[in-house]
Amino acid sequence: MSKVRTNSVQNIIGVILQNIPSDAAVTKIEYEGPMIAIYTKNPRYLLENNAIISGIVKSIKKRIVVRTDESIRKSEEDARKIIMRTIPKDVGIVGTFFDTALGEVTVEVKKPWILTQVEEGDEEEVAVEDRDEVASESISADVGVGSSSSSSSVGSSGSQTQAHIQKQRQIQALIIDLIDSTGWKVRIRKASHIPSESMKQVNYAKKLFANERYRLLRSVGESIFRPRLLEDTEATLMTLGGFSEVGRSCMLLMTRESKILLDCGINPGASDPVNAFPRLDIIGFDLEEIDAVVISHAHLDHTGFLPLLFKHGYRGPVYCTDPTLPLMTLIQMDMIKVAAGEGELPLYTERDVREVIKHTITLPYKTVTDIAPDIKLVFSNAGHILGSATVHLHIGNGDHNIVYTGDLKYGRSQLFDSASWNYPRVETLIIESTYGAKEDIMPSREEVESNFVSSINKVLMEGGKVLIPVPAVGRAQEILMVIDHHMKAKNMVEAPVFIEGMISEASAIHVAHPEYLTRELRQRILEVDDNPFTSEYFTMVEHPSQREEALREGPAIIMATSGMLEGGPVIEYFKSIAKDHKNKILFVSYQVNGTLGRRVLDGSRQVSLMGRDGKIEVVDIMAQVEKIEGFSGHSDYNQLMAYVNKLKPKLRRVIVNHGERRKVENLAGSIYRIFKVPAAAPMVREAIRLY
Ligand SMILES: [Zn+2]
Repeated sequence: MSKVRTNSVQNIIGVILQNIPSDAAVTKIEYEGPMIAIYTKNPRYLLENNAIISGIVKSIKKRIVVRTDESIRKSEEDARKIIMRTIPKDVGIVGTFFDTALGEVTVEVKKPWILTQVEEGDEEEVAVEDRDEVASESISADVGVGSSSSSSSVGSSGSQTQAHIQKQRQIQALIIDLIDSTGWKVRIRKASHIPSESMKQVNYAKKLFANERYRLLRSVGESIFRPRLLEDTEATLMTLGGFSEVGRSCMLLMTRESKILLDCGINPGASDPVNAFPRLDIIGFDLEEIDAVVISHAHLDHTGFLPLLFKHGYRGPVYCTDPTLPLMTLIQMDMIKVAAGEGELPLYTERDVREVIKHTITLPYKTVTDIAPDIKLVFSNAGHILGSATVHLHIGNGDHNIVYTGDLKYGRSQLFDSASWNYPRVETLIIESTYGAKEDIMPSREEVESNFVSSINKVLMEGGKVLIPVPAVGRAQEILMVIDHHMKAKNMVEAPVFIEGMISEASAIHVAHPEYLTRELRQRILEVDDNPFTSEYFTMVEHPSQREEALREGPAIIMATSGMLEGGPVIEYFKSIAKDHKNKILFVSYQVNGTLGRRVLDGSRQVSLMGRDGKIEVVDIMAQVEKIEGFSGHSDYNQLMAYVNKLKPKLRRVIVNHGERRKVENLAGSIYRIFKVPAAAPMVREAIRLY
């Protein structure tokens, strides 16, 4: 017999009320998506006595956020004036964004280090998952620059100096004063060097749908915290896309209580819908029955179908990390543009993309969050691109734990730390295998860079041009840093570098989220205002009319999107660069089967392109074609095996996905042979019983 659980709303509210003194002036307690929001007319009291909230969090094991009561919120205009007056001028306020659904204001500043030193506490110190606790949004989480996870360790780190703690306290006091005097929750964030259009779009949609979002968050909370009906923890995984293939990553996790979709991508290399989109047609129920969508990272093959999901009636929450939201907005909007540019009807419209924004709830790394009555989610760093996350799902009372790696880099890069692996429990591992073949061993970082430099030098010295097709997000920023470094060090022949496409926009999103980058980069951005993605060598091509300069006689490097020659400005450069044997097309990222990039890389000497006017254009490829291995944001074979090895003591089963058939089979075979852990290599349209 299963018993009905009574950890219901009344209980939660009861515990909260018992523990909060009347001085706190609590006006209401409501769900806010996966959190419990406590509204107060006296925020100062709860902010200064944060032991009260942490005590409640410990007892109810739910995330709590303190909100200001609407009645004490000043008008936006007045609040802005107070903020301008209170924050010292030299900090340089660039803008303010008032999120009316939450009563929160984000203040973007040029020089946050005047207010604070960068947090030196290690993020691991606030890794709540390790302690099996649920995070509260502590007071300090609201005062740090950056994410709550990187700043909420205030006072908890033994390594912090007295002066540092002192300084943090001062800032806390300043922020509490601001909250008190404006009635708005205040967050301070580093402004990027150029304004990000995607972040603006996200804010615009948040503002436009503020009332709806407020209601949505309440109803999402109600379904998450509904009483559990059953105690058993059956779990089944349905493979909908990205199994024994790369592209359209999507799977459905079903328990008897809930249905969670993990990733929702498209296959950029497939032309027919049966192979381009996740096989949601086989799930046998309406999209409305899905409780939540969890997104590992922003790439098109993991998020490209999301707007279509809303177009077809899904209205539930989407969970991802903070930077993933503007990045996927950028990628989805670009898909509309690319389709229009090629005279095709886009799959979805801006309206559908805004629906995605409206329903998205962002979560920091390492924070345990309830997403269904029987499922808790924790994101951790996956090392692949900005905001990329591994997905840890804790089912039932912890009887079954799943880790889905998404795209994984188990190794350090210029931009990101190596992927996290220290999960308290994991019985089922779902791991990618983009480079899962035995021969997929990448050279060392030094070798990679030296190959890259000499490959480019050869062309530049002959007066040729190098075209580097890059995905806007991730590789582009890595390559920019490498080029700048080697030109400055005089290893690379100095030449102008032209950049076109979404690259600078994506760089701006990186700068606005320094807490997701390596510590060195974070410090460069936050402490000395040294932007790693700008350089005297770089020229941004803002408009097609400026392409002439890039294509003029003489050596140059051109970086443009898209990374697989599937549309975007890179195509225009490709047509011109390809004609001359002096030039080179240099790939630095994975080329999916079926894309133009893959055909060129595989040796096609002639390709046909659809012109803007619908006419077919034949391009002869006289230029050299080369791929530099090792810049990838994916783990190589050794890194994948090393990752599994780390988790081995806990594992009961491995499911290998996100790889061409041969690679998936090889990795699964190696895992079974070497670690003696059962490893499956399913196809799309399989149902796998997990528990
Ligand atoms: Zn990816």
